[in-house]
Amino acid sequence: MARVSVESLRKEYDVGTVVAVDDLDLEIEDGEFVTVVGPSGCGKTTTLRMLAGLERPTSGRIRIGETDVTDVHAKNRDVAMVFQNYALYPHKTVFENMAFGLRMSTDLSADEREARVVETAEMMDIEELLEDKPDELSGGQKQRVALGRAIVREPDLFLFDEPLSNLDAKLRTSMRAEIQRIQDELGITAVYVTHDQHEAMTMGDRIVILNDGTLQQQGKPTDVYENPVNEFVAGFVGSPSMNFLDVAVDATGGRLQLSDPAGGFQFELSAGYAERNDVSLEADRYTLGIRPENVSVTDAGSKNAITATIDVVEPVGSDSYLHLDVDDEFIARVDAGVDLSPGDRVSLTFDEADVHLFDHDTGRDVF
Ligand code: ATP
Repeated sequence: MARVSVESLRKEYDVGTVVAVDDLDLEIEDGEFVTVVGPSGCGKTTTLRMLAGLERPTSGRIRIGETDVTDVHAKNRDVAMVFQNYALYPHKTVFENMAFGLRMSTDLSADEREARVVETAEMMDIEELLEDKPDELSGGQKQRVALGRAIVREPDLFLFDEPLSNLDAKLRTSMRAEIQRIQDELGITAVYVTHDQHEAMTMGDRIVILNDGTLQQQGKPTDVYENPVNEFVAGFVGSPSMNFLDVAVDATGGRLQLSDPAGGFQFELSAGYAERNDVSLEADRYTLGIRPENVSVTDAGSKNAITATIDVVEPVGSDSYLHLDVDDEFIARVDAGVDLSPGDRVSLTFDEADVHLFDHDTGRDVF
């Protein structure tokens, strides 16, 4: 078990023309499961590879447990990495693949090694496959072997690089649960990279969101979901994405009024809202954010309502997503039982407690 500490980590490629990771600070607690997520090219894999020792930081320090490992070679770090493409040795059996890492890293006897491999294979439910070669296995079985090979070493730190991307949706769901169960059982600190925000939100004790090589926000998934620090995070976390509308803010008359500059709607916040929420508004343009699940269909003519036409009704099980003609796109999640069709005019509203307001220029959360 180990605590991981990353300080001012930076990685440049191509003589500084590409900054893959920029001034990253992270503290990962002993036994914590941290997911790292962000769009393609945001620096997730580079961060993970620096933790593994496969990539040398341009500057900054990495500590695992009590040791500063920044200059320690990958093979001398007590870290096990699981890759998307499994990275199994094709000519070795499952047993040999699993035992190989042990031979490299410990001074166990052959009998002890065998016992550890068999015990881990049982834990991963792959004991029947020990004599098979990787090309005889399905994708799911290969990934179980790759996991088993990581687990058998009993490392200080697990690193996962999109390990489930090549599996079908059903298998992915069951493997997610299994990885969490094993990590929890063994209590090994884990860093799990994914581009899938749903995976990151459901698996992580803590989620770390990167964009353009920089840390955007980290925290418990529910906290990040409810209190995104900027428009990027707000739009990245949650599916379908948060709706965004350009608004002008008018504070005359003691109440804050958010209105569409094109005159489409007005939303008046309750008296004292700005004071209660410690809001100070200096600009005149903001971006209003509201999640699809917080939008409801209301009676025509209601106060604080937006009138819109339904473009598409997308049924998703017990709910339907209404795609509406507000700005570029605006989605409302409603009960699937609601009788609405494309072309219908509807009034939409939301609660002020669910409204986010972002600075139009910087994207920073205002409330
Ligand atoms: P993806 O989800 O697409 O794998 P990522 O978030 O893991 O992306 P990285 O692979 O860490 O992102 O890449 C971050 C940036 O660094 C990208 O702009 C990428 O093009 C660049 N980069 C990564 N590796 C190298 C390399 N070996 N040489 C040059 N540039 C690189």
